[in-house]
Amino acid sequence: MKKIAVIGTGLSALSLAYHLPTLDITFFEKSWRPGGRISTRKHNQYAFDHGAHYLKLDHGIIGLNEYLNKIDAIKVLKGQFCSNILQKSFIEDKEIIVGKEGNESIPLKIHKALHYPTYFSTQITNIESLNNEYYLIAGNEKFGPFDYIFCSMPFEQSKTLLEEYIDYSDMPDIEFDAIWTIMVAFDKRLGVPFQFGYHLTPEISFLMNQNFKHEFFNEECWVINMRAEWTKEYYNIENYVLEDYVINKMKQSFQSNADAVFKKSHRWRYSYAKKSLRDIKSKRYIESIDRRLYSFGDWCEGPSMQDAWLSGKKLAQDFTENSLKQ
Ligand SMILES: Cc1cc2nc3c(=O)[nH]c(=O)nc-3n(C[C@H](O)[C@H](O)[C@H](O)COP(=O)(O)OP(=O)(O)OC[C@H]3O[C@@H](n4cnc5c(N)ncnc54)[C@H](O)[C@@H]3O)c2cc1C
Repeated sequence: MKKIAVIGTGLSALSLAYHLPTLDITFFEKSWRPGGRISTRKHNQYAFDHGAHYLKLDHGIIGLNEYLNKIDAIKVLKGQFCSNILQKSFIEDKEIIVGKEGNESIPLKIHKALHYPTYFSTQITNIESLNNEYYLIAGNEKFGPFDYIFCSMPFEQSKTLLEEYIDYSDMPDIEFDAIWTIMVAFDKRLGVPFQFGYHLTPEISFLMNQNFKHEFFNEECWVINMRAEWTKEYYNIENYVLEDYVINKMKQSFQSNADAVFKKSHRWRYSYAKKSLRDIKSKRYIESIDRRLYSFGDWCEGPSMQDAWLSGKKLAQDFTENSLKQ
C-alpha cells in the first residue's frame, strides 16, 4: 500500500484524509492537539473559541453537515448578530454552526473518527529525498520512507518546506493577515444587545460572546478580534497592555463598570488569506513535477473553514483520480 504523510491536522488535512480512500496515512502535527486555527482555549472554568468562531450555516458544501452530525461534532445555534455596530446596524437573528463542546470538537471528533496514527508535538523542518522516496525530518528524528507528502499549512510555511522540490518562481505569494485575539471574562453582564458582531470600534473588527456557545460559566466571556491593520501596527505590543486597552474599550462602548476577572491574548501569525490561489492563479493546490509532494490549505480556496474543507476534498478527488488509479 502507498505510504502517505500529511503534515498538519487542521481542517484541510482532516478533509483530505477523510476524502481519500483508506490508505496508509500518518499525520505529523507540530502542536500537541489537532485542529490548527480551530482552537478552544480552556482556562479554569472558562472556554474561549479564540480561532475560528463558527461555520456559516449556508456554507454550501454538500455532505459536510451530515458527516459532522453523524460524528456528533456540531450544533446549530441562533444568536443576535450586528453586521456593523459602529453604524448601529439592525440587530438580527442569525443561525450558525459551532462545535458541540467548543469549536475544537469539530477537528477533535473528525481526527478521532479517522483513526490514523499521528505524531503530535512534531514540527517538520525538512523533507529529504533518497532513491525516489521521501523522508520527513523533525529535529533529530527522521520519518519515512513515504510515497506521497501532503503539506496543509499556510502558504509561506509550506513554501519553506517545499522550495527545494517545487519551482515557485511562477507562483504568487499568498499573503495572510495577522490578527490579535483577546479572551476576557467579566464579573458581571455588560448589557450588550447582541451576541456577535463586526466593527465595535475602529480597532476592534469582531467580537463574540462565549456564554451562549458554552453555557457553563457565570461570568460573561468574550473573544475579541483586532483589525488586521491595527494588528500590523501593534504587532509587538505587550500582551498585558493590549488586554487592558481592549477591556477599557469594551467597558467604554457598553458603559459598564464590570471588572475583568480573567484576560488572555494570542497573536495569530496567519489568520486569513487575503486572496486565494484559485482567485490569483486558477489553481486549487500546488504540486511537485513528480506529483508526489503537494501543498494545500484554506488559502487555495478562500479564508474560511469551509474553504479548508473544500481544499482537502478537491485535492483528494484529483489525487485519487490521477495518481492512485494509474
Ligand atoms: C482568529 C481567527 C478567526 C477565524 N474565524 C473564522 C470563522 O469565524 N469562521 C471560519 O469559517 N473561519 C474562520 N477562521 C479561519 C479558519 O480557522 C481557517 O480557514 C481554517 O481553520 C484553516 O484550516 P487549515 O487546515 O487550512 O489550516 P490550519 O488550521 O492553519 O492547519 C495547519 C496545521 O499545520 C500545522 N503545522 C504547521 N507547520 C507545521 C510543521 N512544520 N510541522 C507539522 N505541523 C505543522 C499547524 O499546527 C496546524 O495544525 C479564523 C481564523 C482565525 C485565525
